[in-house]
Amino acid sequence: MDLQSVETYLRPTHLAEVKGWQADWAWLAGGTWIFSQTQPQVKTLVDMQGLGWSELEVTPAGLAIGATCVMSQLLRVAYPATWPAMKGLQCAVHELASFKIQNVATVAGNLCLALPASAFAPVMVALGASYDISSLEGGSYRVAALDFQIGAKRTILKPGEVLRRIWISQESLTWRVNYRRICVATAGLAVSIVVAAHNPKTGQVRFGIGASVASPRLIEATAVPALTDLRDILEAAIPLTDFLEDSQASALYRRHVTQILMQRALAEFGIGS
Ligand SMILES: Cc1cc2nc3c(=O)[nH]c(=O)nc-3n(C[C@H](O)[C@H](O)[C@H](O)COP(=O)(O)OP(=O)(O)OC[C@H]3O[C@@H](n4cnc5c(N)ncnc54)[C@H](O)[C@@H]3O)c2cc1C
Repeated sequence: MDLQSVETYLRPTHLAEVKGWQADWAWLAGGTWIFSQTQPQVKTLVDMQGLGWSELEVTPAGLAIGATCVMSQLLRVAYPATWPAMKGLQCAVHELASFKIQNVATVAGNLCLALPASAFAPVMVALGASYDISSLEGGSYRVAALDFQIGAKRTILKPGEVLRRIWISQESLTWRVNYRRICVATAGLAVSIVVAAHNPKTGQVRFGIGASVASPRLIEATAVPALTDLRDILEAAIPLTDFLEDSQASALYRRHVTQILMQRALAEFGIGS
């Protein structure tokens, strides 16, 4: 859609060229969300495509995903056979509603949009990913995926800050991952997403919980929990009042299906009893 309020379009080739950030400026990555609805508060778009940040690097230490790496790129690269967790990231791509979005939207854009139903946030949390944040003043810092999104469409990013790169360690990528998502309609936003990760060497289990809550949550266990214990584990970790309640689903429904998805994920691994 034509964004009537936008008066200025910038396309820097270096971050240092972006000066004088204002409250009515916005980063433009793939543009799939920005151009999908009116943005009356945005007067300047700062296009990230000229910054050369689309890397997808497979290294002995882990995986780096650059800020403008398009989601579908995750499907096109050969990964080490010892990285079964890549299946979880690739599931996140497939779970997006439309192939048109997959081929234009960026992984980082999905995380920065910070929808409760983000396809990528729960898998990043389950894999213990971290994000490199750059500021316009030249500084940078790293934040855990779990600490990045702090509510529905809210992140820790300060004005002008940019999610520069996503990092997942090689060790996390050796975990097995099972991605579970449920909607009340065939095409629609998820009401619950559970991404289970299992370390076959240590028996540790991690659940990234999304869509049923405003921002992704992590539940960890040092050993495989019994399926019958999952309800108590979930209720102890996330109070009912933290589950979303809206026209799509009640908080009780969301908590219940989240528990079912946790059970199914463990059953798919062939663990839990
Ligand atoms: C029809 C449709 C269906 C969709 N279905 C789903 C779905 O099923 N599941 C799902 O999770 N999402 C869904 N989405 C949302 C989709 O995932 C987002 O539109 C997409 O991920 C945003 O990525 P983008 O690169 O296009 O970001 P943009 O639209 O360019 O930007 C999105 C927001 O993030 C900011 N931003 C982007 N990159 C950065 C960065 N690196 N640093 C700081 N800020 C940044 C922008 O300023 C903007 O506020 C859907 C969207 C549409 C239009």
